[in-house]
Amino acid sequence: MSLKKGRVFSGARPTGRQHLGNYLGAIQNYVALQDEYECIYCIVDLHALTTLETTLDLTNNVLEMALDWLAAGIRPEETIVFVQSHVPQVTELHTILSMVTPFGKLTDLPTFKEKVRMHPQNVNYGLLGYPVLQAADITLYKAGLVPVGIDQVPHVEFTRETVRSFNYRFNTGVLVEPQVKMTEVPKVIGVDGQQKMSKSLNNHIELAATPEETTRRVKSMVTDPQRMRRSDPGNPDICNVFSMHKMFSTPAEVEMVNVECRRAGIGCVDCKKMLAGNLNAYFEPFRQRRLELAAQPSGVWEVLHDGASRARAIAEATMVEVRAAVGLPR
Ligand code: SF4
Repeated sequence: MSLKKGRVFSGARPTGRQHLGNYLGAIQNYVALQDEYECIYCIVDLHALTTLETTLDLTNNVLEMALDWLAAGIRPEETIVFVQSHVPQVTELHTILSMVTPFGKLTDLPTFKEKVRMHPQNVNYGLLGYPVLQAADITLYKAGLVPVGIDQVPHVEFTRETVRSFNYRFNTGVLVEPQVKMTEVPKVIGVDGQQKMSKSLNNHIELAATPEETTRRVKSMVTDPQRMRRSDPGNPDICNVFSMHKMFSTPAEVEMVNVECRRAGIGCVDCKKMLAGNLNAYFEPFRQRRLELAAQPSGVWEVLHDGASRARAIAEATMVEVRAAVGLPR
C-alpha cells in the first residue's frame, strides 16, 4: 500500500533544454514533491502543437527536457514520467469533455485572448480547446492535486468545473475534482534584468550550459544602472545578480554582497564572478549526471516509454468507467 499522501499531476510543454527559470519555477518543486506524493509528470507535446510553427525540433525538445528532468532528480522508478501523445486515451477524454464545455466559456478565458494576441496568424481549434485537453490530462489520472502558481489557479478551477459538468450531465462520480496545490513560483528575471527569463527572449541561462558559457552569461547580466563606476555605491535590492545570489549563494555571501555593494566595497565584476562560481558548483552534479544520461538517449526513451505504459494502464481504467458513464457502446 502506498504511504504517499495523494496523486499529483503536472504537465509541461517540451521546450527543449531547460533554464534557471524552469528549474526554480517547476523542476525543483517536481523533485521535492516526489518525497510525499505519488507523482505523474507529463511532457505535453500535443499542447505544444497548438502554437508550433514547425515540428522539426519536437522530438529532440522532448528528449532534452526529459534529460534535464531526470538529471535534476526525478526518479522514474517511482514517478511516472511520460510523453502526452503516448497515451492516446487523453484525446478520447478531451473529445468527450468538449461535449460538456460551453463554447463561450473557452472564448472568454483570458489565456485564450492572450494566445490570440500572440499568435494572430494561427488561431486554431486546438488553441481554443487547450483548457479542455488540460482538464483531460488531469482527470484521466484522477489526480487529486495539481501544483500551480497563483496565476495558474483559474486553469485548475476550469478543470474542476468541467468535472462537475461531466459528472452532473452523466449522473456519475467517475471523474475527480482536483485541488490546487499552491506553489511558490519565484519570478526569475533574465540576464537582461528586465523580463522574465525565457528562451524566446534569449535572456536565459541553461542548466546544462558549460561552466564557461554560464560565466559568460552571468558576466552579461544587467546590474544596478546607477553603478557606472567601481567606486559608485550600488543598490542590491534592484539588482538581478543579487536576487540570484539569494538563491545560489551562502547566507554569509548574500550578507556580504548586501553590505559591500552599498558602500562600493565589492565591484560588479567580482560579484558576478562569485555568482557564476556558485552556479557552476551547484549544477556540477546535475551536469555530470546529464552527460551520462545523454550518452545513451535510448535509455531516456525507455524511461519515457515505460512511464507511458504505466500511465496508459491508469488512463484505460478511467476510460472504461467514462465510456460506461457516457453510455458509449462496448
Ligand atoms: S555589486 Fe553585485 S549586487 Fe551590487 S550592483 Fe554590482 S552585481 Fe549588483
